[in-house]
Amino acid sequence: MSADSLPHSMLITADSAELRRSVAAARHAGQLIGCVPTMGALHAGHVSLMQQARAECDFVIATLFVNPTQFGPTEDLQKYPRPFEADRDKCRAAGVDLLFHPDLSSMYPTGFVTFVEVDGLTARWEGAVRPTHFRGVTTVVAKLLNLTQPDKAYFGQKDFQQQAIIRRMSRDLDLPTEIVTCPTVRDPDGLALSSRNAYLSPTERASGLSLHRALCLAREKVRAGETNLDAIRLAMRAEMEQTPGVAVDYATIADPDSLVELSEPQPRMVALVAARVGPTRLIDNLLIP
Ligand code: AMP
Repeated sequence: MSADSLPHSMLITADSAELRRSVAAARHAGQLIGCVPTMGALHAGHVSLMQQARAECDFVIATLFVNPTQFGPTEDLQKYPRPFEADRDKCRAAGVDLLFHPDLSSMYPTGFVTFVEVDGLTARWEGAVRPTHFRGVTTVVAKLLNLTQPDKAYFGQKDFQQQAIIRRMSRDLDLPTEIVTCPTVRDPDGLALSSRNAYLSPTERASGLSLHRALCLAREKVRAGETNLDAIRLAMRAEMEQTPGVAVDYATIADPDSLVELSEPQPRMVALVAARVGPTRLIDNLLIP
């Protein structure tokens, strides 16, 4: 067997001391360190983040932790899928060097009371529907970045508000890690990949395609010269609402950094949508142009 055909060796650990030792060794060897935080149930979207990290860094860490503080009391924490073996194999195949999968008690030991909160940006859109979600996200991401000490950390554009909030946290707290946002990976018919797509029946999945259609409609209208953003928002909403089984949470066009809804077109805009399809909540977005 040549060295090339040997399976990629990947350290798997739940132990933060072992993680820190490996990171220190990589740093000592002058390696550029990349980190991809995930909650597992990995799909091609997550894998694309790992591949980008693999292409840009010498030492790639993936973290796998279903973070309870970002789930609301009525959300799907207990039933969130946890296919550990399949996730491990996908990380290994993507060329990850170290898979960190801490347990709950090491991430949130008894007496844990410290949270990271980004004001303002977290109040709108997803934050309006999920009031404690982003403080859970920023807290766990801050912890994971402190544990893994990466040069670069990779997040998906799929969760547009999340990456905007993490960027702001990083800037405001002078974190040394560069935040990299990777493009959304979609099924060929346009549905953005999401671990939650597994909950969709075939009919619901078909209805879920209306989110992507609404985003494309917004982009087409801007390209065609439409300057009335309220009219575009109404058209986006109508595209989703006319689809059976879709309950729209929001359909908007906003500034990509502040996420404030725009009244006039500007060179960089983001179209954001969220809807419930049956019991499953889907989100998607598109940068315009
Ligand atoms: P999660 O496990 O849902 O917390 O997601 C982990 C990371 O994968 C986040 O940065 C997500 O934005 C990213 N991600 C999720 N879905 C996709 C996708 N379809 N394309 C690209 N990145 C994604």
